[in-house]
Amino acid sequence: MRIIESPEDMQRICENLRLARETIGFVPTMGAFHEGHLSLMRSARQSCSQVVVSLFVNPTQFGAGEDLSRYPRAVEKDSALAEQVGVDFLFTPTEQAMYPRGYETYVEVDRLTKVLCGVSRPTHFRGVTTIVAKLFNIVRPHKAFFGQKDAQQTVVIRKMVEDLNMGIEIVELPIVREADGLAMSSRNQYLSAEQRKEALVLHKSLQEAQRLIESGERNASRIIESMERVVRTAPHGQIDYIEIVDGSTLETLDELKGETLIALAVRMGPARLIDNTKVRV
Ligand code: AMP
Repeated sequence: MRIIESPEDMQRICENLRLARETIGFVPTMGAFHEGHLSLMRSARQSCSQVVVSLFVNPTQFGAGEDLSRYPRAVEKDSALAEQVGVDFLFTPTEQAMYPRGYETYVEVDRLTKVLCGVSRPTHFRGVTTIVAKLFNIVRPHKAFFGQKDAQQTVVIRKMVEDLNMGIEIVELPIVREADGLAMSSRNQYLSAEQRKEALVLHKSLQEAQRLIESGERNASRIIESMERVVRTAPHGQIDYIEIVDGSTLETLDELKGETLIALAVRMGPARLIDNTKVRV
């Protein structure tokens, strides 16, 4: 595995790979790798001849007062893990190289970024689409791999790729969970032992939703109310949102229909945790 720091070098390497008719699979990340990240890399490894992973803690997707300065960083451990799963190139640009002085261009997806996580994080997705567009321009991958953990992010990226004719196949892979059901996240490290236990309410509330749907419930408010009851059993939990939306338009559903996304965000002490499930009704 080669570690590349300069965007110009990365771009030149990827251009040569394309000219040599390699298929480039790309996994953008912010590092602190866990099995969720590794599952994306393994999938890229299986379906592409060259795998590029980027590791960049992107400042523009953090809001004022969010966790940018304490976001976990573990570059050496990460590069060992990436090498183990067969990554070819680990791209680790500096903040200075990605956002030099005088930087002023942003990519924004409109409506899809104003709902769900966009309500409490109004500048987040603009940072995500900007960095992902920049990374796509550097790597020019054939396929890019994202986790369903950030389901809204995948919807937003797909829209950007479609609207801007980027011609990149977006692959979404399932949420990887800890043995007890908690969705893996770099931010789980912020939790105390007690909060870590309470954090299970996110997954439990989604299981409750699934149970209700299996027993025939189709009314979104009733499902959300039951989920709220589950989340409220966690004393440190504070609900940011629990919503049931169409899986591709993210429009609120009163009655479950078609490809449905059930998503929630809960503040648990210092961490804001998200989780979701998709159901086809
Ligand atoms: P991050 O480093 O948190 O920006 O995440 C990089 C990629 O890994 C994103 O596409 C995430 O959706 C994905 N990811 C993060 N956690 C998980 C998880 N538990 N399961 C699957 N994918 C994940």
